[in-house]
Amino acid sequence: MKALISIDYTNDFVADDGALTVGKPAQEILQRMLSITKEFYDAGEMIIYAIDKHKQNDPYHPESTLFPEHNIEGEPGRALYGDYQTQYEELKNSNQVLYIDKTRYSAFRGTTLDMELRARGIKELHLIGVCTDICVLHTAIEAYNLGYSVVVHEDAVASFNEIGHKWTLEHITNCLGGKVVKASRV
Ligand code: ZN
Repeated sequence: MKALISIDYTNDFVADDGALTVGKPAQEILQRMLSITKEFYDAGEMIIYAIDKHKQNDPYHPESTLFPEHNIEGEPGRALYGDYQTQYEELKNSNQVLYIDKTRYSAFRGTTLDMELRARGIKELHLIGVCTDICVLHTAIEAYNLGYSVVVHEDAVASFNEIGHKWTLEHITNCLGGKVVKASRV
């Protein structure tokens, strides 16, 4: 069994006026985000939206000294970007779809993700979203440590840091034993 883990494709991380935006590289993967998500849905696979959640004025969160405020609960910046939000609205009532509030870079940290996956017998995780060298990377590392196999869709991840993006894809292949795939080569 496999699942799609869709990470942080929100207005704050993708839109031009997002609080912590990856910008153009993130906007360019929208069509692949939509098509991979639809492929998984049509195939009857699980889709897990793992979305960063912050409180306003939270000095205790470790990111508060590193980044401007972003993905604040209930704010438009935390909605998924453009048509990706529309697609989510269409799919969200299915029992194939789960939405998890991410608390740290890794989608596993402080969430029920591992339990949800184990309950469904899921062993293979397909990662898409942003950004490659922060939340996708940390999620891949924790997945590896928990014994999952990891597949990253190269044309559906993006970063503001091109070197970090490339390094991450190599690291996932060389050190986590993961697979990096592109359109129709899954
Ligand atoms: Zn955050």
